[in-house]
Amino acid sequence: MTKKDNKVKELKEKLFMEKKNSGLIMTDAEMKAADKFNEGYKAFLDKGKTEREATKAAIEIAEKAGFTEFKVGKKYKAGDKVYCNNRGKAVILAVFGKEDIEKGVNILAAHIDSPRLDLKQNPLYEDSEMAFFKTHYYGGIKKYQWTTVPMALHGVINKKDGTVIDVVVGEDDKDPVFVVTDLLIHLAQEQMKKNAANVVTGEQLNVLIGSRPFKDDEGSELVKLNIMNMLFEKYGIIEEDFLSAELEVVPAFKAKDIGFDRSMVGAYGQDDRVCAYTALMATVEIKGTPSKTVVTVLTDKEETGSDGSTGLQSSYLEYFIHDIAESFGKNGRHVLSASKCLSADVNAGYDPNFAEPFEKMNCAYMGKGTCLTKFTGSRGKSGTNDASAEFVGYVRKIFDDNKVIWQTGELGKVDFGGGGTVAKYIANLDVDTIDLGVPVLSMHAPFEITSKNDVYMTYKAFAAFIK
Ligand code: MN
Ligand code: MN
Repeated sequence: MTKKDNKVKELKEKLFMEKKNSGLIMTDAEMKAADKFNEGYKAFLDKGKTEREATKAAIEIAEKAGFTEFKVGKKYKAGDKVYCNNRGKAVILAVFGKEDIEKGVNILAAHIDSPRLDLKQNPLYEDSEMAFFKTHYYGGIKKYQWTTVPMALHGVINKKDGTVIDVVVGEDDKDPVFVVTDLLIHLAQEQMKKNAANVVTGEQLNVLIGSRPFKDDEGSELVKLNIMNMLFEKYGIIEEDFLSAELEVVPAFKAKDIGFDRSMVGAYGQDDRVCAYTALMATVEIKGTPSKTVVTVLTDKEETGSDGSTGLQSSYLEYFIHDIAESFGKNGRHVLSASKCLSADVNAGYDPNFAEPFEKMNCAYMGKGTCLTKFTGSRGKSGTNDASAEFVGYVRKIFDDNKVIWQTGELGKVDFGGGGTVAKYIANLDVDTIDLGVPVLSMHAPFEITSKNDVYMTYKAFAAFIK
């Protein structure tokens, strides 16, 4: 190498940015820690396939770590750990810090609802001596992906007398599973000509649940009767009880390692339970008393626009901040205005098999660490929080100081689509907010993929932000 070459190399190293694969940076010990962390993550995914189950699993973990249920009006002190259960579908955790709460709290916000098929209120019918459940899909899905996949049924049935029956069928190895059928290729000449959005329609997402008739010589709908009779015997429910039920059809498979090198996790519902679990663990494993109060919210309804009492367009997070402020004799509005938030949600990982919609300079890559997303939205950044340069600088320094491997990401090329997160709803409360999360392949498909190193780095990023 000549002297001149050396100078170029030196200058490039000094001036150019290079984001390397985490596998080239992490030590063997850290990679081992990442693998171990992901074992806990996979168990959490299997345990919490719905927002209700994820809430329950999160509270279980929090209680083990010494969190107790928050009581409005009670006096708390630094170091106290509380949680607030919102209708069994969302949960807020808080660890009270040493500093005056009016100097702001550090918020982590992730969502625990995922795309799925919800049963309609009148779901059960029989056609051609087969029994089905009618569904209305929840969140944005490519409908054709949800056919011929083994499915489980999760949820609750609220009976008229007030009893709530928990339902989980399809998760135990001995359980039956359910399925949405698809047309055989031999007869699909017309179907294959259709636009992918219409290959399978919403009203075709009917779940096959039985085919054996009730043994009797008379009457119609004997397959439906047989199913209803079984449900009565098992749960004591009649058809009318479906009216006050929330039953969700989700993929029946468990979380698995992907690849010969086991470097990735494949599972249903990683958007956004991957950020929920990493935020939860960073919060419950906090060492000592943090300087600022930590507020971690695992919310519901993100996939349908965050509306409703358990979504972040409702006031439940704001009310909680007011309640904890009052507990210290402070003003909740002042707390909010001084607060900072990592809105924890996944971003699209670059997929070389579908390169077209990605802008290679500004998309997130699998294995290059947790992904900081300054803005989301679509068509001219419409409908987005857009974090300030100052706030990006603030988190950038925290990540670098704490050896977090991170990258930035934009959700696809300009004018190729887009999306949003809960970031804007929190930012609208006058809180400095930015998105951070794990890059995902096949997002919103029944089986989504993440990199174990990215999962671990997201956990590290949250821990550094709130410590
Ligand atoms: Mn999400
Ligand atoms: Mn999503």
